[in-house]
Amino acid sequence: MSDFDTDLFVIGGGSGGVRAARIAAGYGARVMLAEEFRVGGTCVIRGCVPKKLLVYASRFSHSFEEAEGYGWTVGETSFDWATLIANKDREIARLEAAYTANLTRSGVTIAKTRAVLEDAHTVRLLSDDRRVRAKHILIATGGWPGMGTGIAGIEHVISSNEAFHLTELPKRILIQGGGYIAVEFACIFAGLGSEVTLVYRGDNILRGFDDDVRNHLRSEMEKRGIKVITKKIVEGIEKVDHGLDVCLSDREQIVVDKVMFATGRRPNVKDIGLEAAGVKLDQRGAIAVNDYSQTNVPHIYAVGDVTDRIALTPVAIREGHAFADSVFGKKPTPVDHTNVPTAVFSEPECGVIGLTEAQACEKLAKVDIYKTTFRSLKTTLSGRDTRTLMKLVVDGLTDRLVGAHIVGPNAGEMIQLIGIAVKVKATKADFDATMAVHPTASEELVTMREKTATHVRQAAE
Ligand SMILES: Cc1cc2nc3c(=O)[nH]c(=O)nc-3n(C[C@H](O)[C@H](O)[C@H](O)COP(=O)(O)OP(=O)(O)OC[C@H]3O[C@@H](n4cnc5c(N)ncnc54)[C@H](O)[C@@H]3O)c2cc1C
Repeated sequence: MSDFDTDLFVIGGGSGGVRAARIAAGYGARVMLAEEFRVGGTCVIRGCVPKKLLVYASRFSHSFEEAEGYGWTVGETSFDWATLIANKDREIARLEAAYTANLTRSGVTIAKTRAVLEDAHTVRLLSDDRRVRAKHILIATGGWPGMGTGIAGIEHVISSNEAFHLTELPKRILIQGGGYIAVEFACIFAGLGSEVTLVYRGDNILRGFDDDVRNHLRSEMEKRGIKVITKKIVEGIEKVDHGLDVCLSDREQIVVDKVMFATGRRPNVKDIGLEAAGVKLDQRGAIAVNDYSQTNVPHIYAVGDVTDRIALTPVAIREGHAFADSVFGKKPTPVDHTNVPTAVFSEPECGVIGLTEAQACEKLAKVDIYKTTFRSLKTTLSGRDTRTLMKLVVDGLTDRLVGAHIVGPNAGEMIQLIGIAVKVKATKADFDATMAVHPTASEELVTMREKTATHVRQAAE
């Protein structure tokens, strides 16, 4: 008889926890999972999926405008926020039920409660104060919006969590933040008809992305009427008769109906009993893990946003899967966090993978850049003032593609496939040898012949 009530206890039913639980159960482990809010976690309930539905909704306004040039007469259009939110909520409820059913079918026991560690093998379920002794524990508690401290009127500010449940579309919204969530929501609200101001403390949006992507997207957003204010922060918010009066660091006042902060997410480590279990954090406040997602306590593991490696759903899923393979499948599986393709569902969309031009110049002795911006065929008749950017970063000594950066329609779909090319170490010559698909925008990726820049690192003196 085992001394333990279960082989694996998973805290958190999001992307990482759900995948780990199902795969571990598939290997024959007895698995329990606790979820305090809704099964599916951030991605399904208040992240990627509802966001993408809002993105789709926001893009219809552009399609209506473009249709005229193609001979269509679009009658008077109107948008109903309440219908969108109700339909979105119905789809999220369906997905939540599907996730729950899949877990149960896999043999996982779900506890709908907050769970905290009491010691290194004991988990306490708060709903009924039950204690469960687990042989292995996986912490997959995700992340939470960081709202900053000491800002007067912060109680009037919403995060992305609340943005999905507003009762009406704000006529004027100010979003603080420059990361992908801030940028995506700015484009969503602008597409739906709100007057949008984006405020960011840095010198340009999308820190960490290639500079050409940052400049290109910013100018495209500005063309669509989004006011982008950089090098300033929100210092205070005051409720006034006709909305919220926002005071910026240079004393500029902006009156809006809603203020949203998307200023980064923090690992969800508070009050989950990490000290009692002896689990250590790293300098950034995330749970410290090795390549196998193992913490300093050998039978306790952590995956996903709570480890703050790369906060994306496919990464959390891969980490959860690899953990289950390693511990219950007897196949030690580290996760490769290099060359992760990613998209920003802005308008237009961004798709990126690998090194930026600046990173490549720091790492490599010789770097070749291939870059183009162009008006896509569709815009010729629609008349829409928008350009697409495509950029390849190539190791000048080996000819290998080390980075790709796209801003334009379907960039997210394109970068998924370029991701395979980067993983198999394709060279620029492989791209050149690939026949183009015509007429498409992506054909530019295999027809860029001329280098637009070459950087050669000078040998150290
Ligand atoms: C607005 C937004 C948009 C996003 N868009 C994208 C995107 O387009 N693409 C992409 O790849 N990623 C996107 N992400 C990121 C993605 O959602 C996360 O990286 C992913 O969900 C992380 O999975 P996880 O398993 O680590 O945590 P989560 O999915 O956050 O799951 C953690 C779960 O643990 C539960 N929990 C926490 N503490 C306890 C406890 N003590 N007891 C019981 N349960 C607990 C929480 O309720 C939650 O359900 C987005 C995130 C946000 C916020």
